[in-house]
Amino acid sequence: MPFPLKVCAICSEEFELKPDKPGFANRCPECSAGEASDPVTRRRMDADERKNESEANQARRQAVRDLLYRKDS
Ligand SMILES: [Zn+2]
Repeated sequence: MPFPLKVCAICSEEFELKPDKPGFANRCPECSAGEASDPVTRRRMDADERKNESEANQARRQAVRDLLYRKDS
């Protein structure tokens, strides 16, 4: 049984709309894949940024602690 042919809303290519196709029904698998990979990349970058920020905060706290300790002694 053939799958219904759809025209991709992004690249205007015809594609078979399979029931298990991920992403939007009006996008071909190529455009769906490109769209689906973006949030993952973005999430990974956010995690790296949070990690860098956390390390920066830790370094800042350590610097303040060293400063206070030096003042006390
Ligand atoms: Zn497409």
